[in-house]
Amino acid sequence: MSGPRRIAVLGSTGSIGTQALDVIRQLPERFAVDSLAGGRNHGLLAQQIAEFRPRAASWQGAASADLEAAVRSTGCRFAPVEDLALASDIPLIATAGAAGLFPTLAALKAGMPVAIANKEVLVMAGNVVQKALREHGGRLHPVDSEHSAIWQCLWGEEDHGIRRILLTASGGAFRDFDADSLAVVTAEQALNHPTWNMGPKITVDSASLMNKGMETIEAMWLFDVPMEKVEVVLHRESIVHSLVEFSDGSVKAQMGVPDMRLPIQLALAYPERMPTPPMPSLDLAAAGSLSFGRPDMERFPCLRLAIEAGRRGGTFPCAMAAADEVAVGRFLDGEVGFLDIPRVIEAVLEKHDGIADPDIETILEVDLQARDKARAVKPGVPV
Ligand code: MG
Repeated sequence: MSGPRRIAVLGSTGSIGTQALDVIRQLPERFAVDSLAGGRNHGLLAQQIAEFRPRAASWQGAASADLEAAVRSTGCRFAPVEDLALASDIPLIATAGAAGLFPTLAALKAGMPVAIANKEVLVMAGNVVQKALREHGGRLHPVDSEHSAIWQCLWGEEDHGIRRILLTASGGAFRDFDADSLAVVTAEQALNHPTWNMGPKITVDSASLMNKGMETIEAMWLFDVPMEKVEVVLHRESIVHSLVEFSDGSVKAQMGVPDMRLPIQLALAYPERMPTPPMPSLDLAAAGSLSFGRPDMERFPCLRLAIEAGRRGGTFPCAMAAADEVAVGRFLDGEVGFLDIPRVIEAVLEKHDGIADPDIETILEVDLQARDKARAVKPGVPV
């Protein structure tokens, strides 16, 4: 390899973005920051620009004084996120929501590899992404710990049939709560995740199991299997990151200490594995035992709703993801209860007229409409 791999870190101020910069910081011979995109957190983006001196950057809104100063002193230039993705060797798509869609598609249409941490891209537009992959020869390197695990299990197995994909789930902050307790949990309680350290939206999605539901849809598109072949298994220790069962009944698992920097490093360095940042060895004897169980779709209806949306396909997953984002926002604002999140989503999906194999314009329109509907739903009041 000639020189460090030049990375566009899109979503650099978020949880995955800052951990990716930590990986890049520790491997200066292998990785360089080509560009950064930081949304509205101008203060942190300004610090990152001062440290990494990227060639270009992107942000939302009028630049704050410190951001302007950082840009001027480093000679960094503003550019749209699609341009940032295209100018890099590999973009890391770590933006939340629909913002990840266009840079991902631009890079895939240019036949590039893309490190994908954003969930919505595949949940909203899996069919469009798959089409771009087929027609232009790009590649997706999954960053999510579960999909990275499945990806690793499949290396060298390309010609072998997948019987099942087993996605592990830690169960989230409320895994042991009964229905009465779930009805009164607060946003603060939801934000206290047992194992992984993540942003607020994905932490609430982890507590409701919507995150796991979205991951089943992502797995379907990433590994080209029908929803019937994707199963969720509860595993509270977060040591087994997911498993693949092959046609002969053999099951492969990928394990490791739960640290997002490992899948991030792998998605950026593929096909290599880097010894940096240093990971502690997995101490199975100290862990003692690993537990597995079935998820409870009665207590956690978001998982059922997501799997159903994935099975129905078309625009159903997009409408579901949009409704979820609004419902989680309303929960974080204290406007609705935790169990109202699936109620809002279900109300939106009940009224949704699905469209098969949608194009991008249709997807974006469905996204906006579902958001409007989700804002209007009054939980407990029939729609
Ligand atoms: Mg995950």
